[in-house]
Amino acid sequence: MQLPRIVENSPFARLARLKLTAPNVAMVLGRSIHLSGVTREEFLRDPFWVAHEMEHIRQYERHGRLGFLVRYLWGWARHGYYNIPFEIEARAAAERDAPFYAQGRPLPTAAERHPSPKQ
Ligand SMILES: [Zn+2]
Repeated sequence: MQLPRIVENSPFARLARLKLTAPNVAMVLGRSIHLSGVTREEFLRDPFWVAHEMEHIRQYERHGRLGFLVRYLWGWARHGYYNIPFEIEARAAAERDAPFYAQGRPLPTAAERHPSPKQ
């Protein structure tokens, strides 16, 4: 399975974490996944989370760096974080693609999964 570059202790993810008041955050910048408050191993253990971020990577590839960012921030201002169209799409992709990223391991239970920030 081909995974993108993963950056731990990212200052960009830390900013997003403060903004979302979330204990841990993964965010996509270009073709990399930036983490804050979570290690690479912990992140990779949750196939729902990986599938969610991989959908953001596809969105980036579809719209380009600037196109993605403008649409994402516009969606945030207009609908609030939880209802950003890209986030709705990524949550659906998480449910759809988690078995693929689980690579034969059992899927984590609802309690074990990383919760999506609600705001
Ligand atoms: Zn997301």
